[in-house]
Amino acid sequence: MTTLALQSLWSITAPPAPPSSRLVGARAAEVIVIGGGYTGLSAALHLAEAGRAVVVLESDDIGVRASGLNGGQVIAGVKHDPDQLQAMFGDDLGARYARTVSGAPDEVFELIARLGIHCDVVRTGWLQPADSPAALPPLAARAEQWRRRGAPVELVAREAMRELTGSQRYCGGLFDRRGGTVQPLSYARGLAQALLRAGGELFTRSPVLRLAKIAGGFRAETPEGRLSAAQVIVATNAYTGQLNAQLRRTVVPVPSFQVATAPIPAQLRATILPGGQAASDTCRLLRYFRTDASGRLVMGTRGTFAAAPTTHDARHHYRAVSEIYPQLAGLGFEYHWGGFVAMTADHLPHLHELAPGVLAGLGYNGRGVAMATVMGRLLAQRALGAADAELGFPVSAVRPIRLHAFSGLGVRATIQYLRLKDSLDRLGRRPPG
Ligand SMILES: Cc1cc2nc3c(=O)[nH]c(=O)nc-3n(C[C@H](O)[C@H](O)[C@H](O)COP(=O)(O)OP(=O)(O)OC[C@H]3O[C@@H](n4cnc5c(N)ncnc54)[C@H](O)[C@@H]3O)c2cc1C
Repeated sequence: MTTLALQSLWSITAPPAPPSSRLVGARAAEVIVIGGGYTGLSAALHLAEAGRAVVVLESDDIGVRASGLNGGQVIAGVKHDPDQLQAMFGDDLGARYARTVSGAPDEVFELIARLGIHCDVVRTGWLQPADSPAALPPLAARAEQWRRRGAPVELVAREAMRELTGSQRYCGGLFDRRGGTVQPLSYARGLAQALLRAGGELFTRSPVLRLAKIAGGFRAETPEGRLSAAQVIVATNAYTGQLNAQLRRTVVPVPSFQVATAPIPAQLRATILPGGQAASDTCRLLRYFRTDASGRLVMGTRGTFAAAPTTHDARHHYRAVSEIYPQLAGLGFEYHWGGFVAMTADHLPHLHELAPGVLAGLGYNGRGVAMATVMGRLLAQRALGAADAELGFPVSAVRPIRLHAFSGLGVRATIQYLRLKDSLDRLGRRPPG
């Protein structure tokens, strides 16, 4: 059992971040954005493009949290299917909500093209392979609901899924042509570059320790500086910390961990995800995987809470690779890293108005590459004065999760339980032949 050297593959292959410095002294702006991930960067970019004096304050560096650590899978939709969204929010708002989340990948890819961001874009779709025949009917219903709304989503049979994934493991599944992949850290850094070009400002290593109400607005206090503005956008997601206890308690941070193999040998490369799609399977603890521009397989699933994870902690990932791609036996694992996904009680992202002039957007439940980008645009529109009816997305009240203090214990127990159920399922089922 060896302690792992934690380093993300993305930190090796991304272009450098734009130059930035700490906030020192007293400054003023029109809008303060707290958090330099996709939510904050997208919000700030849209505000800067609308001519607002906007400043991002980031605790650490750009994209060092979820936005630079994730799987880079650009996925349409949220956890709920569109019919369910309409049932939850009514025909008008529900239909617009479904359109917004359906178009989320379009927004990401159009932004990348418009801004000239170099982030290894592949837009050949997203797969949801079915781990068991029982998973197929809900996927068929999902495909049908999206197709009814004109989205290019289809159910594919076992043979087609085998060809798409290069794995014998799955018995069919969903092929959603709206999705794709990006190099996630390159995307975050590209958004930061674009923000600076649009006239926005960015201070890194500048954690906001306190947000004070002052005459005409708010003052964000960092260890060495103070920034005042009429409006504030809080974009701290799973890493909200002590800044706002109410907001922090609306999400449960769940660890997700990834491993990347050595480059796949040339003779196998053309058989593993040959079309370049990304995949997230239907296991209870879903496994999400893709290849990158250098031909490595990147495999993720729920992770460990350990501060210094070991090879033992990564065993579920190694096992997932050998189960899904036994042909890769013997290929080494060169990168290991993880981060926290913000889960909400209703499995939906939330846009809150914390107080007049203070907005927050968070809780993407593992689908934030596209959705946090969209949320940033929605937050910017709201800060610019858009009314509820114009947003096409609900502005909801802050509802802290009950017994949040115990959620870490609950997450640990749930992960163990679901992993056990998945293992029992696999034992009880012959591999699809
Ligand atoms: C391992 C992993 C894999 C994932 N895979 C996928 C995937 O393949 N596809 C997908 O769609 N989604 C995925 N996600 C989810 C996705 O990464 C997130 O939903 C998205 O990045 C959220 O962006 P964000 O800007 O809201 O949060 P973050 O990127 O976490 O940004 C929040 C920022 O706020 C900063 N901050 C916190 N407190 C303060 C403060 N007081 N002052 C200043 N700054 C502060 C933090 O330092 C951080 O940089 C994954 C997440 C993880 C962790």
